Amino acid sequence: MKEELKLLVALQEIDSVILRKSRELKKAPEEIRRYQGPLRESEAAYKREKEKYEAVEKKKREKELEVKEADDKIDRLKSRMSDIKTNKEYQALLKEIETIEHEKSGMEDAILYMMEELDELSAGLREAEGRIEQEKKRLEALQVELDEKRGVIEKELAELKEKREALTARIPAGIYSKYMDVFRKSNGLAVVEAKDEVCLGCYMSIPPQVYVEIKTSDEILQCPQCGRFLYRRDPAAEEKETPETS
Ligand SMILES: [Zn+2]
Repeated sequence: MKEELKLLVALQEIDSVILRKSRELKKAPEEIRRYQGPLRESEAAYKREKEKYEAVEKKKREKELEVKEADDKIDRLKSRMSDIKTNKEYQALLKEIETIEHEKSGMEDAILYMMEELDELSAGLREAEGRIEQEKKRLEALQVELDEKRGVIEKELAELKEKREALTARIPAGIYSKYMDVFRKSNGLAVVEAKDEVCLGCYMSIPPQVYVEIKTSDEILQCPQCGRFLYRRDPAAEEKETPETS
């Protein structure tokens, strides 16, 4: 293989790794967002339950106030007992007290029922709090993990870029700028193997004449369909042909 083509093949290898690792870096925020979803849902559910709890608590306080008012009323009625002159009046007063006490008993039942409801709701709230706590911890652990991963990838990228610089220094400027042009236009894949008269970049057939010329020509040939640089692998000489990249 021509030396310059070997360099391009090596450059493409490095660039493919750089591209893959850069894409990996960009995935981190997505992963974080995926974990944030369940946490937000749990927090919203907690808020709804909390509002329910507060509404019941408010109703209970109102009921308790009503009970107190009923007690006051009963006390007032009882204090009037001594002023009563007739049995009829006495009976009427007793009846009134009885009615209020009956109502009061209904209120107390309602309060008991609400207390049970509050117990259930607060158990649910504690559970939701636990869930939120867990999800927060999971998110924190993920953040730590992603930060570590990013550190590793950034270091690898820095090393790759150094290698790349050393390599591009050996490539003639004209060829390099052509490479970059194709690289940008073909989604990061500028140098591809030609195998069995097919370009492994676009998978279109290469004219037999061009296929032969890939080996014989002094020029670096490009695929007539997609414009990518073509090389042909020689399995026997593969080891020897790999250029030094470090
Ligand atoms: Zn092609």
